[in-house]
Amino acid sequence: MSKRRVLYEGKAKTIYEGPEPGTLIQYFKDDATAFNAQKKAVIAGKGVLNNRISAHLMTKLESIGIPTHFMRSLNMREQLVRQVEIIPLEVVIRNIAAGSLSKRLAVKEGTILTQPVLEFYYKKDELGDPMVNEHHIMTFGWADPYELDEMIHMTYRINDYLNGLFAGIGLRLVDFKLEFGRIYGEYGEVYLLLADEISPDNCRLWDAQTGEKLDKDRFREDLGDLVEGYQKIAERLGLVPKGGIIEGGNINEQLAASLGEIENELAEKRKLRGLKMSPGNKPRKV
Ligand code: ADP
Ligand code: MG
Repeated sequence: MSKRRVLYEGKAKTIYEGPEPGTLIQYFKDDATAFNAQKKAVIAGKGVLNNRISAHLMTKLESIGIPTHFMRSLNMREQLVRQVEIIPLEVVIRNIAAGSLSKRLAVKEGTILTQPVLEFYYKKDELGDPMVNEHHIMTFGWADPYELDEMIHMTYRINDYLNGLFAGIGLRLVDFKLEFGRIYGEYGEVYLLLADEISPDNCRLWDAQTGEKLDKDRFREDLGDLVEGYQKIAERLGLVPKGGIIEGGNINEQLAASLGEIENELAEKRKLRGLKMSPGNKPRKV
């Protein structure tokens, strides 16, 4: 393989320069981290499963009109995406109390929330990704009012859609985290895309029957084999054969490599909807 330039080495993924300008390759690593990277492990097969799960969910979202960065899968660990200017926010939406919400507000884990709760976190590892609100976002210019509005709308829509999708395969979508990014049109107009990944690394998913946690909390809370949970999710989504691609803690590379690629023609053909710009707001340059 030719040498590719690494643009960013993240905790869960490596970002390479893509084959064409405006594209990137996301390589999904087997690394797991928690508690601000204080807890670490390499878990065979995690990258393959997250790559497939995220590609599948992005494709589904694209099909209901959510613009995403996903273009197509390249191989079992890599996908081609559109390069965006990441908005430095994590948008979290919660349907059921768990994790930091339960802790911070002393709400019993598993409490069904009477309405989805939206939260923003500032993406800044050094600060431990602190929670922020709309005022911080405006004051510090992380997003403008139009972008914020669009992100909120998209997040609710994604939540509704994914709740149904997971309920249909016996899973409860407890909460999840999204990242968005901008691309600029010919005239400097701004388009917002869903970026990063949607995987059990950043979605809480519980078995609807047993309540078993199938997501990254298995790792955080030492609840047994992480990849076993991810595999169950991928199996129910129909993305890996029954019995999975991990055998005795090792990935069956041959079987994993033989899985079909996930195509998303829509990503390239879609006509994007630009954001309105406030009067007097000059189009921004790339
Ligand atoms: P982190 O350790 O920061 O969570 P990851 O391992 O998740 O990083 O790697 C992905 C990084 O790439 C994130 O910082 C994410 O914001 C960024 N990213 C995701 N999708 C895109 C994209 N389409 N264009 C540019 N950057 C992206
Ligand atoms: Mg990340």
